[in-house]
Formats: sequence, structure tokens, C-alpha cells
Amino acid sequence: MKIGIMGAMREEIEPILELVDEIDGEIEYGNNQYYKAKFDGVELVIAYSKIGKVNSALTASVMIEKFEIDLLLFSGVAGAINTDLKIGDLIIATKLCQHDLDITAFGHPFGYVPESKIFVETDKKLNQIAKNVANKLNKKLLEGVIATGDQFIANPEKKEWIKTTFQADALEMEGASVGFVCDLLGTPFFVLRAISDSADMDAGFDFDKFLEGSAKESAEFLIEMIKEIK
Ligand code: SAH
Repeated sequence: MKIGIMGAMREEIEPILELVDEIDGEIEYGNNQYYKAKFDGVELVIAYSKIGKVNSALTASVMIEKFEIDLLLFSGVAGAINTDLKIGDLIIATKLCQHDLDITAFGHPFGYVPESKIFVETDKKLNQIAKNVANKLNKKLLEGVIATGDQFIANPEKKEWIKTTFQADALEMEGASVGFVCDLLGTPFFVLRAISDSADMDAGFDFDKFLEGSAKESAEFLIEMIKEIK
């Protein structure tokens, strides 16, 4: 089995690269570095995509088509919407949507384009494994809707709009694009995020302060999951 592990930013995959047993090679493709690695006997391909939907869609596609991964795990940080989520808390996506996709002028709902769908669902088996790991480690883990868009949200009104329009619990900038690519190409996928901020006025400040710690939380949890997946 070959597992793809993605983050958006270097800070999100560095803790994963530190935790793997060995790094066997580094391949540059499409202005991304792909690290071939092993953990607990499992073959891994690890990369950060750079921020946003286009970059993350490319990296997910390359992982699937060029590196022939069997499943894709995303690890990173997100802004909280659900008030149960505090900085450092973990959330897994049950489904994801694109909050900035808008052809409502033609009578379609937000997040929808013809021949597609608003929400893409994550793999249920991988989510169950995450819940088992959370129990084992005695870690708080929420499940919910994650909304993705090409915007850093630091605005209470915008956050409220995303909450009411999509019943979203957290928001970020890559999950749904990775999810749609995996869904269309038939690769099971999973999205884990640790909260770095609350997408409000303080979001920029909080993000800078908590990025490193939250990214590490998410990475450490993901690595524990690999032991259970194999
Ligand atoms: N400080 C960075 C930019 C970070 S953008 C720089 O200057 O390069 C925010 C990243 O974290 C994205 O990858 C996104 O997925 C996630 N994220 C965390 N909080 C977010 C928020 N409030 N809104 C949108 N994305 C958020």
C-alpha cells in the first residue's frame, strides 16, 4: 500500500517528515517537492502543495496519477466556526464544499456547478480509524463540515455567512479541492485539521502565533493513524 500525505504549507508537513522512519528520495515536479518515505513499513509520498485550491488540486492529482497512491490523507490547520472548536483542537471533515464558488446568477445554489455537487464526502473507513485513534490517545476529535475557499477569512460576518450557507464547522483553503480531485479519480481521502484561529478579527495574529503548534498536533495524530490503517 502507498499512502499520500499532503499539507498546504511547509510548516504542515515538516513535523511529518521528522516523524517518519526514513526518507528515501525527493522528486521535484510542477514546482513541488515530493518526498518518498517509510513509516512502520508503509510506503509514503509526502508533499506540501502551497496555499489554495489550484495548488492543492494539482498536488493531489500528481500524487494519484504520477505516484500512484492508494489513499490520500491531508493534514493541516483551519479556522474554527463551531464554537466547540478551540485553538489546537482537531476536526475531521465528513464532507467539504467550496464556499467561494458562485454561479447563483443562474439560479444555482452557492457552491454548485452543473454536473457536479455541493459537497464531497470523505472516506468513512478512514474517519472511523481516526475516531478509534482519538479514543486510544484520549484526544478530543470533532467531525463536521469543512468549507474551502481561496480566501483567508478574518471577518465575523463572512464566517457567519459560511456557517449559515453550508452548516460548516471549520474553514480553510485546500480541503474541498483535494477532495473533489480524489472523488473524481476514485481515491479514498481524509481531511484532518487542527484549529489555528477563529476566522475573526484576530485570525491573522492567532494564525501566526499558533500555526506551528497546531500543525504539529495534526501531524502527530495523522502519523498515529498510519499504524492503524496498515
Ligand atoms: N501566513 C501565510 C498565509 C496563510 S493562509 C503566508 O503569509 O504565507 C492560511 C492557511 O491556513 C491556508 O492554507 C488555509 O488552509 C489555513 N487556514 C487557517 N485559518 C484559516 C482562515 N481563517 N481562513 C482561511 N484559511 C485558513
